[in-house]
Amino acid sequence: MSAGPTATGPGSRGPSVVDVEHVGKTFGDGPDGLVALEDVDLTIEAGEFISLIGPSGCGKSTLLRLIGDLTSPSSGAVTVNGKPAREARLGREYGMVFQAPVLMDWRTVQKNVELPLELMGFDKAARDERARSMLDLVELGDFGQTHPWQLSGGMQQRVAIARALAFDPKLLLMDEPFGALDEMTRERMNLELMRIWRKTGTTIIFVTHSIPEAVFLSTRVVVMSARPGRITRIVEVDLPQPRTVETRELERYFEHVTTVREALRRHESGEGGPDPSEILQIRAEGLA
Ligand code: ADP
Ligand code: MG
Repeated sequence: MSAGPTATGPGSRGPSVVDVEHVGKTFGDGPDGLVALEDVDLTIEAGEFISLIGPSGCGKSTLLRLIGDLTSPSSGAVTVNGKPAREARLGREYGMVFQAPVLMDWRTVQKNVELPLELMGFDKAARDERARSMLDLVELGDFGQTHPWQLSGGMQQRVAIARALAFDPKLLLMDEPFGALDEMTRERMNLELMRIWRKTGTTIIFVTHSIPEAVFLSTRVVVMSARPGRITRIVEVDLPQPRTVETRELERYFEHVTTVREALRRHESGEGGPDPSEILQIRAEGLA
């Protein structure tokens, strides 16, 4: 449990938190079936920060949702903390943060963070204390009594992170959490997330489109290709910890950015615009 970020690096990781074994996912049946993921194998160890990167539609969100048991695999198996993903979800062993923070506008910030604790049956005093300390962690200690709509996008996303961490999950699943933020806010959120990760030691799986973001944050970057979605390369990011503003100026940082970019480019062929099922999905999610 104490296998924090300082314990990362080849050969010095903790026990495995996530095991994805020969996982495939097909949406629909027969010849019309869409193979979203094929033969994916991935082991993630305690204290790691893993980014999933790849072209739109390559199955990043699907892989994250399989790990979070929001969908089930067509083949293979997903294990979280040594248990089937379903059991881990029911045991609330992970928190999730999405691109849109999904906060309840009629609840105060404090009450939003308390929500999962209410669902888990924590008493009032314990909820209050835990929510306060999580808001302090994301540096929103003075905003507990405000409402989400009074906050900026970056602050709202910090509330979502505080809520996801409220019940002290061993694993945090994040699907493009900063995708809707402007570049400067995003860089600040990256630093903030690094600080939180160091402090909590939580294992994080993070989906992003941004190569610099993936390199800056991660201990390993998982590069995926589309149609069918596969893991094509895993890049170990051996940049020193803690990652700071100076990290982005290191020569080694640029080398890693280039490595990831080239790994992505190598599998670019066949990647056009969004396919019809993606457009339907985008509409269903209200993004267009
Ligand atoms: P990414 O997050 O990498 O952009 P997704 O995991 O969302 O990709 O999607 C991978 C593929 O699976 C896409 O072609 C997408 O249209 C398809 N897909 C995802 N979810 C569904 C679903 N619920 N039903 C049908 N197709 C889906
Ligand atoms: Mg996605």
